[in-house]
Amino acid sequence: MTLPPLEYASEGPYPNKLAYITLDDGPGGYTEATLDVLRENGYQIGVTYFLHGKNIAGHEGTVARIRSEGHGIGNHSWGHEEWYAALNANDDVTMSDLIDRTEKAIQMALGDSTFVSGMFRSPGGSLVIDRMLNNQPIIEQVPGHPLWFHYGWYVDTKDWWGDEAENAVQRAMEEIDKGWGGNNPIILMHSTHSHAPEVLRGVIDGLRQRGFVKFGVLPRPGDSPGIVYHLFVR
Ligand SMILES: [Zn+2]
Repeated sequence: MTLPPLEYASEGPYPNKLAYITLDDGPGGYTEATLDVLRENGYQIGVTYFLHGKNIAGHEGTVARIRSEGHGIGNHSWGHEEWYAALNANDDVTMSDLIDRTEKAIQMALGDSTFVSGMFRSPGGSLVIDRMLNNQPIIEQVPGHPLWFHYGWYVDTKDWWGDEAENAVQRAMEEIDKGWGGNNPIILMHSTHSHAPEVLRGVIDGLRQRGFVKFGVLPRPGDSPGIVYHLFVR
């Protein structure tokens, strides 16, 4: 079949079908390879990377490349272990600090102290998972950052299971075919494992075959709000 042309969409008005691919847990050894996929075959695909502060040292150039190629940078806290330790202790102050430390690490990598990611994804979707599983709007405050957008996801590749890339793609497409996320699905994968480029290629192809010709960077506070039902600020 002939696939429709690709377009890059980072601002509204949003078309009926616009997919948000998100890649978590980087930067890491395979993040650059995923960036390459987003520009191969003449693609101009925009995605959002949710980064861990603890992974940035040694990968500063990758962070800069994510930004320079037009992708979104979101804050994914310092690291999963650190986040869950604070979460389990119900320690909002430390949770907020883990976000701030990550933000500073991103700023250092970019050489831009004015950068604000403005969007957060809690590790494991820990603060929003119940609603994600029910395919409901995601409503949760980001600890210490009340004006930020807090993003979960609607479609999960479960690529961290480590099985074949095609299985991860199939899991995601089954959820797309169930209508999860509707015309604006937020799709979760990771940029840190060796088959990330293959999963990403498969997800892009699967989405295009289903009529998704636009791939967006998730909006931050102040961006043109096209899909406000995905997020909530309070
Ligand atoms: Zn994660």
